[in-house]
Amino acid sequence: MPNSSNPNDYSPDVGTPSSDLSKSEEYARKYPNVDFPRIERAVKEILAAVGEDPDREGLRETPARVSRMYAELFSGLHDEASLHLRKFFTEKYDEMVLVRDISFNSMCEHHLLPFTGVAHIGYIPNGKVVGLSKLARVVESVSHRPQVQERMTEQIANLLIEELGVKGVAVVIEATHSCMTIRGVRKPGSICVTSAMKGIFRSNLSSRSEVMTLIFGDRK
Ligand SMILES: [Zn+2]
Repeated sequence: MPNSSNPNDYSPDVGTPSSDLSKSEEYARKYPNVDFPRIERAVKEILAAVGEDPDREGLRETPARVSRMYAELFSGLHDEASLHLRKFFTEKYDEMVLVRDISFNSMCEHHLLPFTGVAHIGYIPNGKVVGLSKLARVVESVSHRPQVQERMTEQIANLLIEELGVKGVAVVIEATHSCMTIRGVRKPGSICVTSAMKGIFRSNLSSRSEVMTLIFGDRK
C-alpha cells in the first residue's frame, strides 16, 4: 500500500510466494539496470561450490533475496552523484558549513563485505550552498557501490570542488570493516579513519585544525 497515509496500516511480510513475486516485480521496476536472474544463478553457484544444497528449503528463496539486496547495496552504480549538488542556493555566506555523523553503509570491493560508519563533511562555500540533505545523498550515492574507504573519501571531496567550486572542503570518514572484524586478522572494534583536505583546509593549518576540532572536539 504505497499511498496509504496511515502509519498503522501495515501488514507484515510473511514471505509467501505471491508476495515474493510482487516484490521481485517491484525491484525489477525500481532497478531496471540490474540483471536479477544472473545474480540468482551466481548465488546458487556459490552455495553449491561451498558444499551446500541450494535446493533445500531454507535456501530456496535465498538467491532471489540476495539479488534484491545487491540491487539495493549497489544502487549507486546507476546514480550520478554529482546531480545531487546541482540544486544549490546562491548565498554570500562564506563561513564553514559542517555536517557531522552522516551514517552510511558500503561494500568493500576486495571482499564484498560491508563496512559501515559515519562521514563528516565541512566546506567553505564560494557563493554556492547546498541543502544539508544533498550532502547525505552524495554520501549515499558514493557508498552504494563496490568501494574502498580511501577512494570514497576523495570522491566526496572532489565532487564538492567540481560542482560547487568550494574554497575548501574537508571530508573525514570513520568506519568499521567487517572484512577486518569477522575474518582475516579479526580485530573487532578497530576503526579506520580517512580524511581528504582540499583548498583552504589543505593550505591553511589553522582552518584545518578548526574543522578537525569541530569534528572531533567533544570526544575524549
Ligand atoms: Zn575488505
